[in-house]
Amino acid sequence: MTAAAKLQSVRGMNDLLPAGIGVWHRVEAALRDTAWAYGYQEIRTPVVEKTALFTHSIGASSDIVQKEMYTFIDGGGEDLALRPEATASTVRACNQHGLLHNQQQRLWYLGPMFRRERPQKGRYRQFHQFGVEAFGWAGPDIDAEVIRLSAAIWRRLGIADVELQINTLGSPSVADAYRDALRDYFAAHRDALDADSARRLDTNPLRILDSKVAATREVIAGAPDIRDFFDAAAAAHFDGLCDSLRRAGVEYAVNPRLVRGLDYYTATVFEWVAGDQLGAQNAVCAGGRYDRLVENRGGRPSPAVGFALGLERLVELVQPGDAADGAVQIYVACAADSADAADAADAAAEAVTVSELLRRDGLTVAMHCGGGKLAKQLRRAAQSGARVAVITGLPGDGGESTGATVQAKPLRGQGDEQRIGIDALAAWCRKHI
Ligand code: ATP
Ligand code: MG
Repeated sequence: MTAAAKLQSVRGMNDLLPAGIGVWHRVEAALRDTAWAYGYQEIRTPVVEKTALFTHSIGASSDIVQKEMYTFIDGGGEDLALRPEATASTVRACNQHGLLHNQQQRLWYLGPMFRRERPQKGRYRQFHQFGVEAFGWAGPDIDAEVIRLSAAIWRRLGIADVELQINTLGSPSVADAYRDALRDYFAAHRDALDADSARRLDTNPLRILDSKVAATREVIAGAPDIRDFFDAAAAAHFDGLCDSLRRAGVEYAVNPRLVRGLDYYTATVFEWVAGDQLGAQNAVCAGGRYDRLVENRGGRPSPAVGFALGLERLVELVQPGDAADGAVQIYVACAADSADAADAADAAAEAVTVSELLRRDGLTVAMHCGGGKLAKQLRRAAQSGARVAVITGLPGDGGESTGATVQAKPLRGQGDEQRIGIDALAAWCRKHI
Protein backbone atom coordinates (compact mmCIF):
# COMPACT_ATOMS: atom_id res chain seq x y z
CA MET A 1 0.00 0.00 0.00
CA THR A 2 1.32 3.45 -0.89
CA ALA A 3 1.64 6.13 1.75
CA ALA A 4 -1.07 8.19 0.00
CA ALA A 5 -3.52 5.26 0.02
CA LYS A 6 -2.96 4.81 3.74
CA LEU A 7 -4.03 8.38 4.33
CA GLN A 8 -7.42 8.05 2.63
CA SER A 9 -10.61 7.86 4.69
CA VAL A 10 -12.12 4.42 5.34
CA ARG A 11 -14.14 3.14 2.35
CA GLY A 12 -17.79 4.08 2.69
CA MET A 13 -17.07 6.74 5.34
CA ASN A 14 -17.28 10.23 3.94
CA ASP A 15 -15.95 13.65 4.77
CA LEU A 16 -18.50 16.45 4.70
CA LEU A 17 -16.65 19.51 3.46
CA PRO A 18 -17.51 23.15 4.20
CA ALA A 19 -18.84 23.77 0.67
CA GLY A 20 -21.54 21.12 1.10
CA ILE A 21 -22.41 21.54 4.75
CA GLY A 22 -25.08 24.24 4.36
CA VAL A 23 -27.78 21.84 3.22
CA TRP A 24 -26.98 19.54 6.16
CA HIS A 25 -27.57 22.35 8.61
CA ARG A 26 -30.86 23.18 6.90
CA VAL A 27 -31.98 19.54 7.01
CA GLU A 28 -30.89 19.05 10.62
CA ALA A 29 -32.70 22.22 11.71
CA ALA A 30 -35.88 21.10 9.91
CA LEU A 31 -35.71 17.68 11.61
CA ARG A 32 -35.17 19.16 15.05
CA ASP A 33 -37.86 21.81 14.64
CA THR A 34 -40.41 19.31 13.36
CA ALA A 35 -39.72 16.93 16.24
CA TRP A 36 -40.08 19.76 18.75
CA ALA A 37 -43.26 20.95 17.06
CA TYR A 38 -44.77 17.52 17.80
CA GLY A 39 -43.60 17.51 21.43
CA TYR A 40 -40.68 15.08 21.00
CA GLN A 41 -37.57 15.56 23.17
CA GLU A 42 -34.01 14.80 22.11
CA ILE A 43 -32.00 11.89 23.52
CA ARG A 44 -28.27 11.36 22.84
CA THR A 45 -26.73 7.97 23.49
CA PRO A 46 -23.13 6.79 22.98
CA VAL A 47 -21.87 5.70 19.57
CA VAL A 48 -20.30 2.62 21.20
CA GLU A 49 -22.43 0.04 23.03
CA LYS A 50 -21.97 -3.55 24.18
CA THR A 51 -22.24 -5.84 21.15
CA ALA A 52 -24.83 -8.00 22.92
CA LEU A 53 -27.29 -5.08 22.96
CA PHE A 54 -27.57 -5.27 19.18
CA THR A 55 -27.30 -9.02 18.71
CA HIS A 56 -30.19 -9.49 21.14
CA SER A 57 -32.51 -6.77 19.90
CA ILE A 58 -31.93 -6.60 16.14
CA GLY A 59 -31.99 -10.38 15.76
CA ALA A 60 -29.16 -12.85 15.27
CA SER A 61 -30.29 -13.74 11.75
CA SER A 62 -30.41 -10.15 10.47
CA ASP A 63 -27.86 -8.91 7.93
CA ILE A 64 -26.74 -6.28 10.39
CA VAL A 65 -25.78 -8.77 13.06
CA GLN A 66 -24.55 -11.45 10.69
CA LYS A 67 -22.20 -9.38 8.59
CA GLU A 68 -22.48 -5.63 8.97
CA MET A 69 -21.51 -4.73 12.52
CA TYR A 70 -18.22 -3.11 13.41
CA THR A 71 -17.26 -4.91 16.59
CA PHE A 72 -14.06 -4.96 18.61
CA ILE A 73 -12.67 -6.17 21.88
CA ASP A 74 -11.45 -3.20 23.89
CA GLY A 75 -8.38 -3.13 26.15
CA GLY A 76 -10.42 -4.43 29.07
CA GLY A 77 -11.71 -7.45 27.12
CA GLU A 78 -15.22 -6.04 26.56
CA ASP A 79 -16.99 -6.94 23.33
CA LEU A 80 -18.15 -3.59 21.93
CA ALA A 81 -19.78 -2.37 18.73
CA LEU A 82 -20.22 0.86 16.80
CA ARG A 83 -23.98 1.30 16.80
CA PRO A 84 -25.65 0.19 13.55
CA GLU A 85 -28.92 1.90 14.56
CA ALA A 86 -30.22 3.74 17.61
CA THR A 87 -33.52 2.15 18.61
CA ALA A 88 -31.80 -0.51 20.72
CA SER A 89 -29.64 2.16 22.38
CA THR A 90 -32.68 4.35 23.08
CA VAL A 91 -34.53 1.45 24.71
CA ARG A 92 -31.42 0.59 26.72
CA ALA A 93 -31.07 4.18 27.94
CA CYS A 94 -34.77 4.44 28.82
CA ASN A 95 -34.68 1.23 30.83
CA GLN A 96 -31.40 2.18 32.50
CA HIS A 97 -32.70 5.58 33.63
CA GLY A 98 -36.24 4.52 34.47
CA LEU A 99 -37.79 6.76 31.81
CA LEU A 100 -40.51 4.25 30.98
CA HIS A 101 -41.61 3.48 34.52
CA ASN A 102 -45.32 4.42 34.47
CA GLN A 103 -44.44 7.04 31.90
CA GLN A 104 -44.90 7.81 28.27
CA GLN A 105 -42.06 9.27 26.24
CA ARG A 106 -41.82 11.00 22.90
CA LEU A 107 -38.14 11.02 21.90
CA TRP A 108 -35.94 11.83 18.90
CA TYR A 109 -32.27 11.34 18.08
CA LEU A 110 -29.84 12.26 15.32
CA GLY A 111 -26.34 10.94 14.76
CA PRO A 112 -23.93 8.67 12.89
CA MET A 113 -24.58 4.92 12.48
CA PHE A 114 -22.16 2.27 11.20
CA ARG A 115 -22.81 -0.75 8.99
CA ARG A 116 -20.24 -2.63 6.94
CA GLU A 117 -22.33 -2.77 3.76
CA ARG A 118 -21.17 -2.59 0.16
CA PRO A 119 -20.75 1.15 -0.44
CA GLN A 120 -22.75 2.62 -3.34
CA LYS A 121 -24.88 5.72 -3.97
CA GLY A 122 -27.11 6.16 -0.94
CA ARG A 123 -25.45 3.32 0.97
CA TYR A 124 -22.45 4.05 3.16
CA ARG A 125 -20.59 2.50 6.06
CA GLN A 126 -20.90 5.58 8.21
CA PHE A 127 -24.24 7.29 7.62
CA HIS A 128 -26.56 9.47 9.66
CA GLN A 129 -30.02 8.75 10.95
CA PHE A 130 -32.69 10.93 12.48
CA GLY A 131 -35.30 8.92 14.31
CA VAL A 132 -38.25 9.24 16.66
CA GLU A 133 -39.52 6.74 19.22
CA ALA A 134 -42.81 6.98 21.13
CA PHE A 135 -43.05 4.73 24.19
CA GLY A 136 -46.17 3.90 26.16
CA TRP A 137 -49.04 4.15 23.66
CA ALA A 138 -50.64 0.99 22.29
CA GLY A 139 -53.29 2.39 19.94
CA PRO A 140 -53.05 3.35 16.28
CA ASP A 141 -53.36 7.09 17.01
CA ILE A 142 -49.66 7.34 17.89
CA ASP A 143 -48.68 5.27 14.82
CA ALA A 144 -50.54 7.86 12.76
CA GLU A 145 -48.82 10.66 14.67
CA VAL A 146 -45.28 9.49 13.92
CA ILE A 147 -46.25 9.06 10.28
CA ARG A 148 -47.71 12.59 10.20
CA LEU A 149 -44.49 13.82 11.82
CA SER A 150 -42.49 12.25 8.98
CA ALA A 151 -44.85 13.78 6.41
CA ALA A 152 -44.35 17.18 8.08
CA ILE A 153 -40.60 16.84 7.52
CA TRP A 154 -41.07 16.44 3.77
CA ARG A 155 -43.41 19.44 3.74
CA ARG A 156 -40.97 21.60 5.67
CA LEU A 157 -38.15 20.71 3.30
CA GLY A 158 -40.23 21.10 0.13
CA ILE A 159 -39.97 17.42 -0.86
CA ALA A 160 -42.97 16.23 -2.89
CA ASP A 161 -41.81 13.11 -4.70
CA VAL A 162 -42.14 10.54 -1.89
CA GLU A 163 -44.71 7.79 -1.44
CA LEU A 164 -45.87 6.27 1.83
CA GLN A 165 -46.28 2.51 1.95
CA ILE A 166 -47.80 0.84 4.99
CA ASN A 167 -48.45 -2.69 6.12
CA THR A 168 -48.99 -4.61 9.32
CA LEU A 169 -47.32 -7.73 10.63
CA GLY A 170 -50.29 -8.29 12.89
CA SER A 171 -50.10 -9.47 16.48
CA PRO A 172 -47.35 -11.94 17.44
CA SER A 173 -49.67 -14.92 16.82
CA VAL A 174 -50.61 -13.58 13.37
CA ALA A 175 -46.94 -13.10 12.55
CA ASP A 176 -46.16 -16.66 13.66
CA ALA A 177 -48.91 -18.17 11.51
CA TYR A 178 -47.85 -16.04 8.55
CA ARG A 179 -44.20 -17.01 9.01
CA ASP A 180 -45.14 -20.71 8.84
CA ALA A 181 -47.17 -20.15 5.69
CA LEU A 182 -44.30 -18.24 4.08
CA ARG A 183 -41.84 -20.98 4.99
CA ASP A 184 -44.04 -23.60 3.28
CA TYR A 185 -44.51 -21.41 0.20
CA PHE A 186 -40.85 -20.47 -0.25
CA ALA A 187 -39.66 -24.01 0.51
CA ALA A 188 -41.72 -25.13 -2.48
CA HIS A 189 -39.83 -22.54 -4.61
CA ARG A 190 -36.42 -23.04 -3.04
CA ASP A 191 -34.58 -23.47 -6.36
CA ALA A 192 -35.68 -20.03 -7.58
CA LEU A 193 -34.41 -18.20 -4.49
CA ASP A 194 -31.10 -16.38 -4.21
CA ALA A 195 -28.60 -17.81 -1.71
CA ASP A 196 -29.34 -15.27 1.03
CA SER A 197 -33.06 -15.90 0.78
CA ALA A 198 -32.60 -19.67 0.81
CA ARG A 199 -30.66 -19.28 4.05
CA ARG A 200 -33.47 -17.12 5.50
CA LEU A 201 -35.93 -19.95 4.91
CA ASP A 202 -34.56 -21.53 8.05
CA THR A 203 -33.82 -18.39 10.06
CA ASN A 204 -36.59 -15.90 9.29
CA PRO A 205 -38.64 -16.39 6.11
CA LEU A 206 -40.37 -13.00 6.63
CA ARG A 207 -37.13 -11.35 5.57
CA ILE A 208 -37.22 -13.02 2.17
CA LEU A 209 -39.96 -10.49 1.35
CA ASP A 210 -37.29 -7.82 1.74
CA SER A 211 -35.02 -9.30 -0.95
CA LYS A 212 -34.01 -6.99 -3.78
CA VAL A 213 -32.92 -9.84 -6.13
CA ALA A 214 -35.09 -9.80 -9.29
CA ALA A 215 -35.63 -13.58 -9.55
CA THR A 216 -36.58 -13.78 -5.88
CA ARG A 217 -38.96 -10.86 -6.29
CA GLU A 218 -40.84 -12.86 -8.91
CA VAL A 219 -41.35 -15.66 -6.40
CA ILE A 220 -42.36 -13.11 -3.76
CA ALA A 221 -45.12 -11.80 -6.04
CA GLY A 222 -47.04 -15.05 -5.52
CA ALA A 223 -46.42 -15.35 -1.76
CA PRO A 224 -49.31 -15.58 0.72
CA ASP A 225 -50.93 -12.27 1.77
CA ILE A 226 -50.71 -11.43 5.46
CA ARG A 227 -54.23 -10.01 5.44
CA ASP A 228 -55.57 -13.55 5.12
CA PHE A 229 -54.05 -14.30 8.54
CA PHE A 230 -55.40 -11.31 10.48
CA ASP A 231 -57.21 -11.75 13.77
CA ALA A 232 -59.74 -9.15 14.96
CA ALA A 233 -57.22 -7.15 17.02
CA ALA A 234 -54.68 -6.91 14.19
CA ALA A 235 -57.38 -5.85 11.73
CA ALA A 236 -58.80 -3.23 14.14
CA HIS A 237 -55.38 -1.66 14.78
CA PHE A 238 -54.58 -1.47 11.09
CA ASP A 239 -58.02 -0.13 10.17
CA GLY A 240 -57.64 2.50 12.91
CA LEU A 241 -54.33 3.62 11.44
CA CYS A 242 -55.65 3.77 7.88
CA ASP A 243 -58.71 5.72 9.00
CA SER A 244 -56.62 8.22 10.96
CA LEU A 245 -54.29 8.79 8.00
CA ARG A 246 -57.22 9.26 5.62
CA ARG A 247 -58.87 11.82 7.90
CA ALA A 248 -55.60 13.73 8.18
CA GLY A 249 -55.21 13.76 4.39
CA VAL A 250 -52.03 11.65 4.39
CA GLU A 251 -51.95 9.59 1.20
CA TYR A 252 -50.67 6.03 1.48
CA ALA A 253 -50.48 2.76 -0.39
CA VAL A 254 -50.96 -0.57 1.38
CA ASN A 255 -48.08 -2.86 0.41
CA PRO A 256 -48.86 -6.32 1.83
CA ARG A 257 -45.30 -7.48 1.07
CA LEU A 258 -43.64 -4.73 3.11
CA VAL A 259 -41.61 -6.07 6.04
CA ARG A 260 -38.72 -4.55 7.92
CA GLY A 261 -35.24 -6.04 8.11
CA LEU A 262 -35.04 -6.00 11.89
CA ASP A 263 -36.52 -8.70 14.09
CA TYR A 264 -38.23 -6.46 16.59
CA TYR A 265 -41.17 -5.15 14.55
CA THR A 266 -44.80 -6.09 15.34
CA ALA A 267 -48.04 -4.76 13.82
CA THR A 268 -47.54 -1.51 11.87
CA VAL A 269 -44.63 -1.17 9.46
CA PHE A 270 -44.16 1.68 6.99
CA GLU A 271 -41.67 3.08 4.57
CA TRP A 272 -41.35 6.31 2.57
CA VAL A 273 -40.01 5.63 -0.89
CA ALA A 274 -38.63 8.38 -3.12
CA GLY A 275 -39.09 8.65 -6.88
CA ASP A 276 -36.27 8.33 -9.43
CA GLN A 277 -33.97 10.81 -7.73
CA LEU A 278 -32.36 8.28 -5.38
CA GLY A 279 -31.84 5.38 -7.78
CA ALA A 280 -31.83 1.89 -6.29
CA GLN A 281 -31.47 3.02 -2.65
CA ASN A 282 -34.84 4.76 -2.66
CA ALA A 283 -36.12 4.07 0.87
CA VAL A 284 -35.67 7.31 2.71
CA CYS A 285 -37.52 6.58 5.95
CA ALA A 286 -38.63 3.35 7.59
CA GLY A 287 -40.36 2.48 10.80
CA GLY A 288 -43.07 0.72 12.64
CA ARG A 289 -44.26 -0.68 15.94
CA TYR A 290 -42.08 -2.83 18.20
CA ASP A 291 -44.18 -3.65 21.21
CA ARG A 292 -41.99 -6.46 22.50
CA LEU A 293 -38.58 -4.82 22.44
CA VAL A 294 -38.66 -2.94 25.75
CA GLU A 295 -39.64 -6.04 27.70
CA ASN A 296 -37.18 -8.08 25.70
CA ARG A 297 -34.39 -5.72 26.84
CA GLY A 298 -35.26 -6.17 30.52
CA GLY A 299 -37.77 -3.36 30.99
CA ARG A 300 -41.41 -3.44 32.10
CA PRO A 301 -43.50 -4.07 28.97
CA SER A 302 -44.10 -0.85 27.04
CA PRO A 303 -45.62 -0.52 23.59
CA ALA A 304 -43.45 1.45 21.21
CA VAL A 305 -43.49 2.88 17.70
CA GLY A 306 -40.92 4.87 15.76
CA PHE A 307 -39.00 5.41 12.56
CA ALA A 308 -35.53 6.22 11.30
CA LEU A 309 -34.63 8.20 8.23
CA GLY A 310 -31.31 8.39 6.42
CA LEU A 311 -29.88 11.90 6.18
CA GLU A 312 -27.62 11.13 3.21
CA ARG A 313 -30.68 10.13 1.16
CA LEU A 314 -32.74 13.04 2.51
CA VAL A 315 -30.04 15.57 1.63
CA GLU A 316 -30.11 14.28 -1.99
CA LEU A 317 -33.82 15.15 -2.15
CA VAL A 318 -33.39 18.71 -0.94
CA GLN A 319 -32.56 21.58 -3.29
CA PRO A 320 -29.38 23.29 -2.12
CA GLY A 321 -30.38 26.73 -0.81
CA ASP A 322 -28.51 30.02 -1.49
CA ALA A 323 -27.34 31.17 1.89
CA ALA A 324 -25.74 28.47 3.95
CA ASP A 325 -25.73 28.83 7.73
CA GLY A 326 -22.35 29.97 8.91
CA ALA A 327 -21.43 31.64 5.61
CA VAL A 328 -19.21 34.70 6.13
CA GLN A 329 -21.16 37.96 5.78
CA ILE A 330 -18.60 40.56 6.75
CA TYR A 331 -14.83 40.61 6.27
CA VAL A 332 -12.91 43.01 8.51
CA ALA A 333 -9.65 44.23 7.00
CA CYS A 334 -7.08 46.45 8.64
CA ALA A 335 -5.26 49.11 6.63
CA ALA A 336 -2.37 49.60 9.00
CA ASP A 337 0.55 49.75 6.66
CA SER A 338 2.24 52.08 9.07
CA ALA A 339 5.91 51.65 9.80
CA ASP A 340 5.09 52.74 13.34
CA ALA A 341 4.57 49.59 15.41
CA ALA A 342 2.38 51.35 17.96
CA ASP A 343 0.05 52.67 15.23
CA ALA A 344 -0.15 49.22 13.68
CA ALA A 345 -1.02 47.70 17.05
CA ASP A 346 -3.76 50.32 17.59
CA ALA A 347 -5.22 49.59 14.17
CA ALA A 348 -5.15 45.83 14.80
CA ALA A 349 -6.91 46.33 18.13
CA GLU A 350 -9.53 48.45 16.38
CA ALA A 351 -10.18 45.65 13.87
CA VAL A 352 -10.78 43.26 16.78
CA THR A 353 -13.13 45.72 18.50
CA VAL A 354 -15.14 46.29 15.32
CA SER A 355 -15.33 42.54 14.60
CA GLU A 356 -16.58 41.74 18.09
CA LEU A 357 -19.13 44.55 17.91
CA LEU A 358 -20.60 43.17 14.69
CA ARG A 359 -20.60 39.60 16.04
CA ARG A 360 -22.46 40.71 19.15
CA ASP A 361 -25.05 42.09 16.77
CA GLY A 362 -25.48 38.59 15.32
CA LEU A 363 -23.48 39.05 12.11
CA THR A 364 -21.03 36.43 10.83
CA VAL A 365 -17.63 38.04 10.67
CA ALA A 366 -14.22 36.85 9.48
CA MET A 367 -11.42 39.12 10.61
CA HIS A 368 -8.29 39.29 8.48
CA CYS A 369 -5.28 37.74 10.19
CA GLY A 370 -1.70 37.73 9.05
CA GLY A 371 -1.32 41.37 7.97
CA GLY A 372 -0.24 42.36 4.45
CA LYS A 373 -1.28 45.02 1.96
CA LEU A 374 -4.88 46.20 1.86
CA ALA A 375 -5.30 45.06 -1.78
CA LYS A 376 -4.38 41.51 -0.76
CA GLN A 377 -6.71 41.67 2.22
CA LEU A 378 -9.58 42.72 -0.06
CA ARG A 379 -8.84 39.78 -2.37
CA ARG A 380 -9.19 37.50 0.65
CA ALA A 381 -12.42 39.31 1.51
CA ALA A 382 -13.83 38.48 -1.94
CA GLN A 383 -12.68 34.83 -1.65
CA SER A 384 -14.37 34.48 1.74
CA GLY A 385 -17.77 35.00 0.13
CA ALA A 386 -18.45 38.04 2.36
CA ARG A 387 -20.87 40.65 1.07
CA VAL A 388 -19.28 43.57 2.86
CA ALA A 389 -15.69 44.48 3.69
CA VAL A 390 -15.16 46.76 6.67
CA ILE A 391 -11.78 48.48 6.59
CA THR A 392 -10.35 49.78 9.84
CA GLY A 393 -7.27 51.95 10.23
CA LEU A 394 -7.98 54.24 7.24
CA PRO A 395 -8.29 57.94 7.94
CA GLY A 396 -11.48 59.42 6.43
CA ASP A 397 -11.48 62.02 3.63
CA GLY A 398 -12.01 64.79 6.12
CA GLY A 399 -9.16 63.42 8.23
CA GLU A 400 -11.60 62.01 10.86
CA SER A 401 -9.84 60.04 13.50
CA THR A 402 -10.00 56.31 12.94
CA GLY A 403 -11.72 54.41 15.73
CA ALA A 404 -14.94 56.44 15.60
CA THR A 405 -15.52 55.71 11.90
CA VAL A 406 -14.58 52.95 9.41
CA GLN A 407 -14.77 52.41 5.65
CA ALA A 408 -17.55 50.03 4.63
CA LYS A 409 -17.37 48.54 1.15
CA PRO A 410 -20.09 46.42 -0.49
CA LEU A 411 -18.41 43.56 -2.36
CA ARG A 412 -21.24 42.37 -4.61
CA GLY A 413 -22.23 45.61 -6.29
CA GLN A 414 -24.90 46.49 -3.69
CA GLY A 415 -24.07 50.22 -3.40
CA ASP A 416 -21.09 52.51 -2.89
CA GLU A 417 -18.26 52.40 -0.42
CA GLN A 418 -18.92 54.72 2.53
CA ARG A 419 -17.47 56.21 5.64
CA ILE A 420 -19.63 55.10 8.56
CA GLY A 421 -19.69 55.80 12.27
CA ILE A 422 -19.16 52.72 14.44
CA ASP A 423 -22.58 53.18 16.05
CA ALA A 424 -24.36 52.90 12.72
CA LEU A 425 -22.15 50.17 11.24
CA ALA A 426 -24.10 47.02 12.17
CA ALA A 427 -27.37 48.43 10.84
CA TRP A 428 -25.66 49.51 7.61
CA CYS A 429 -24.08 46.03 7.21
CA ARG A 430 -27.47 44.36 7.66
CA LYS A 431 -28.86 46.40 4.78
CA HIS A 432 -26.02 45.30 2.52
CA ILE A 433 -25.74 41.54 3.19
P1 ATP B 1 -32.23 -0.48 3.15
O1 ATP B 1 -33.38 -1.36 2.79
O2 ATP B 1 -32.05 0.68 2.22
O3 ATP B 1 -30.97 -1.22 3.45
P2 ATP B 1 -32.82 -0.62 5.94
O4 ATP B 1 -34.05 -1.43 5.91
O5 ATP B 1 -31.54 -1.26 6.29
O6 ATP B 1 -32.66 0.18 4.54
P3 ATP B 1 -33.26 0.89 8.35
O7 ATP B 1 -32.29 0.10 9.09
O8 ATP B 1 -34.68 0.80 8.71
O9 ATP B 1 -33.08 0.68 6.79
O10 ATP B 1 -32.83 2.42 8.35
C1 ATP B 1 -33.72 3.49 8.05
C2 ATP B 1 -33.17 4.38 6.99
O11 ATP B 1 -31.77 4.62 7.16
C3 ATP B 1 -33.24 3.81 5.58
O12 ATP B 1 -34.52 4.00 5.03
C4 ATP B 1 -32.20 4.62 4.86
O13 ATP B 1 -32.70 5.89 4.48
C5 ATP B 1 -31.14 4.81 5.91
N1 ATP B 1 -30.03 3.85 5.76
C6 ATP B 1 -29.98 2.56 6.17
N2 ATP B 1 -28.80 2.01 5.87
C7 ATP B 1 -28.06 2.97 5.25
C8 ATP B 1 -26.73 3.04 4.71
N3 ATP B 1 -25.91 2.00 4.78
N4 ATP B 1 -26.32 4.20 4.16
C9 ATP B 1 -27.14 5.27 4.11
N5 ATP B 1 -28.39 5.28 4.60
C10 ATP B 1 -28.86 4.15 5.17
MG1 MG C 1 -30.18 -2.26 5.08
